[in-house]
Amino acid sequence: MTNDEPARRLAAVKAELSRAAQIAGRDPAAVTLVAVSKRQPMEAIAPLIAAGHRVFGENQVQEAVAKWSDVRAERADLRLHCIGRLQSNKAAEAVSLFDAIHSLDRVSLVTALARAIDAAGRAPQMFAQVNIGGEPQKGGVAVADLPMLLEACRGAGLSVAGLMAIPPATVEPAPYFALLAKLAREHDLPLLSMGMSGDAATAVTLGATHVRIGTALFGQRA
Ligand SMILES: *Cc1c(COP(=O)(O)O)cnc(C)c1O
Repeated sequence: MTNDEPARRLAAVKAELSRAAQIAGRDPAAVTLVAVSKRQPMEAIAPLIAAGHRVFGENQVQEAVAKWSDVRAERADLRLHCIGRLQSNKAAEAVSLFDAIHSLDRVSLVTALARAIDAAGRAPQMFAQVNIGGEPQKGGVAVADLPMLLEACRGAGLSVAGLMAIPPATVEPAPYFALLAKLAREHDLPLLSMGMSGDAATAVTLGATHVRIGTALFGQRA
């Protein structure tokens, strides 16, 4: 196996996303590829950094701090996105490490994040996560409770840039992506974090500005 495999996968994923954007009449540059590096060791991640990729996603604060703190100190252009469920007691750590948080899903977290942002003097870009398929085992605010969550953000002075969702696993995702896009329009939110390895192209045609892709870039996780 040669070592240009990660770079080749990166190029293939980017080409697929560009193609989808063009089909939909969108600018490919308006889609940010978040390379989901959770449970991947730095040896697997480094080739993507070497190939020029700069935006990575992690789902656990502890793992992200351990893996990225040193690398980040050396590379000012790296961007880290938190894509996993966030405990309120990790809000301060998350605010100081991450450039974006895709998992704002409840009022108690709004309060914790607003306080952490005040204290840190730095504000990651925020996505409210919506439980778009109404699945009990998934994170995200219920569709019906989204207005209340956004109202709580306004009340706390927490600025929200977009919505994030993970559609149900075994059904056609397009209707869920379309619903998320409609909710974002209704609330004047410009950003949409939707689409993973299996469905990113579909998400891009329906307006995704951020796709979160792990397996298609890194292969299976440990
Ligand atoms: C793991 C994960 C991804 C990446 O999933 P793949 O299928 O490996 O691309 C995307 N979004 C979230 C929230 C995740 O937890």
